[in-house]
Amino acid sequence: MSQKRIVIIGSGIGGSAVGALLAHTRSYEVSLYERNKLIGGRFASYEKDGFKLDIGCHLIANCDKGALGQILRMVGRPDWVEWHYAAKPAPVINFKGKRVRFPKEIDALNLPPEDFNKIMEFYTKALSIPEAEYDAWDKRSVFSLMQEYTKNETVRAVFGLLSGVFFVISDKETPVGEYALCSKQMLTNRSTGYPAGGTGSVPEAYIKSIKTDGGQVFLSAPVKQILVENGEARGILLNNGQKVDAEIVISNVGNQPTVNYLVGREHYRPEVLARLDKYEYSKATSMLKIALDQPITDEKMVMFIDRDDLSVLEQERRDGIIADVLTDVMCPVISNLDPKACPAGRQLIIAGGGTHPMPEKPDQEWFKKLEASMFNAVKIIYPGIEKHVMWTTFTTSREIDNLFGENGNVIGIAQKVGQVGPDRPFLTDPCVKNLYHCSADSGMHGIGGELAADSALRLFEILESK
Ligand SMILES: Cc1cc2nc3c(=O)[nH]c(=O)nc-3n(C[C@H](O)[C@H](O)[C@H](O)COP(=O)(O)OP(=O)(O)OC[C@H]3O[C@@H](n4cnc5c(N)ncnc54)[C@H](O)[C@@H]3O)c2cc1C
Repeated sequence: MSQKRIVIIGSGIGGSAVGALLAHTRSYEVSLYERNKLIGGRFASYEKDGFKLDIGCHLIANCDKGALGQILRMVGRPDWVEWHYAAKPAPVINFKGKRVRFPKEIDALNLPPEDFNKIMEFYTKALSIPEAEYDAWDKRSVFSLMQEYTKNETVRAVFGLLSGVFFVISDKETPVGEYALCSKQMLTNRSTGYPAGGTGSVPEAYIKSIKTDGGQVFLSAPVKQILVENGEARGILLNNGQKVDAEIVISNVGNQPTVNYLVGREHYRPEVLARLDKYEYSKATSMLKIALDQPITDEKMVMFIDRDDLSVLEQERRDGIIADVLTDVMCPVISNLDPKACPAGRQLIIAGGGTHPMPEKPDQEWFKKLEASMFNAVKIIYPGIEKHVMWTTFTTSREIDNLFGENGNVIGIAQKVGQVGPDRPFLTDPCVKNLYHCSADSGMHGIGGELAADSALRLFEILESK
C-alpha cells in the first residue's frame, strides 16, 4: 500500500508526538522540519558543564500515566523515557519562609477554623464536578467560586499560586472545569514528576521513534511558507528555497503564527480570522538555573509564596513593579528528581517565576531586577545557598521568544475562561484543506506539555478515522 506523504513543521511535543504516532502506523511517510538545532521546542534540554538544563520545563503533571506516557505506549516504546515521581519527599509549600505540607499541614497557615472548613468544602465541590458538567463550569473562574466559600487572602494566595503553576494565568481567569479536571487527574494518578535526562528526553524519544519507523527529521531547517493551491495545502517551502511536496501538512508552530505567517491571512474567511485574533496566550516567565558545589537539600519540589495581599500585588504588577522578593516561585530540585542531571556531589536547582506580567518591551535592567528578585526568593527557601553557587544561568522570556516565538509564553493559547473546551482553537484547519494544527494551542485538556500531547492524540484520531 502506498504511504501518504505528511510534512510536520516543528519538533515541539505536539509535532514530535503526532509524528511518532503517524510513522508507527506505517501508513504515512513522515518528514519533520524543525527550525532550531535543539529538539523539543519549549520542552528542549541542553547541557552545560555536565549539568542537564531544560530551556523551560521542570515538572510533568502525570508522567507515564498521562498523555505523554500514553503516546510512548501507543508506539510500543513505554520505557524509552524513564520517569521519576516527585514523591518521598512530596512537594511542599514554603509560605513566607515556613514549610507547609499541603493539605496535611494546612493549619500551619494560621487560618481561622471556619476558613479551613471552607477550603475543604471548596475542594470537595470542585473535585465532585461530573465530567459532563466541566464545559458549563468552565464559564466561571476559580476566583469567583472561591469567593463564595471564603474571601481570606491567604487562601487565595495558595489557590492562586496553583492556577499560576498549572495554567500560568491568574485565578481570576482560570476556568473551574479545567482546574477541577487537571486537579482530579493528578490526585488520581499520583504520578507528577520528571523525566530522566531532562524534559527534552520526551520529544527526543518521539523523534527517535519517528526515525525508527522510517520517518525523516531535519533540524536547523526553518519553514518559510505552507504552499496552498486552490484552497489545499500542497507542501512547504523552506527558508533555503527548497520545496517539499506533501499530501498533508501539520503545523506545530501554533495556530496564530501558522495562519498569519506560514499560510497567509488571505486564505481565511473573516469570521475565522476574527475568532483567531481574539485568542490570548498564557503569561511568559523566566527561569533561574542554579548549579551548586554540593547538595544542600533532599527536597524535590518547593512552591514558594511570599505574599498574601494579592489584590495589592496585582496592582503593583500592573504598575510594572518587581518586588525585592518574587512572591510566587516554583522551585524544583532537579538533581533530586533525576540524580543524573548533574555531576556526582553537585546539585541543580531551578526557580521559575509564576505569573508576573511583563512590560511591553522589557529591557536588560528589568530582567536583571527579576533575576535578583527570584534569587532572593530562593535565599529564603534555602538560607545560605549563596555560599554554594558555582554559577547561575537566567533564561529570560525574551530568549524563549527568540527561540520559539509567541511572545515567549509558557503554555500556548491560554486555558482561560472563554478559551477552553469547545472554544479551544482548531485542529483541522477550517479554510485550507489537508492542513492540520497540532500544539498546546489546539490541545483540549491538560497542563503544559500534556496539553500539547493531548492535541497530538486528538489529531491522530482524526487522521486515522479518515
Ligand atoms: C519557562 C517554561 C516553563 C514551563 N514549565 C512547564 C512545566 O513545568 N510542565 C509542563 O508540562 N509544561 C511546562 N511548560 C509548557 C510546555 O513546555 C509547553 O506547553 C509545550 O512544550 C508546548 O509544546 P508545543 O507542541 O505547543 O510546541 P512548542 O514547544 O511551542 O514548539 C514549537 C516548535 O516549532 C518550531 N518552529 C516554529 N516555527 C518554525 C518554522 N517556521 N519552521 C520550523 N520549525 C518551527 C519551534 O522551534 C519549536 O520547536 C513550560 C514552558 C516554558 C516556556
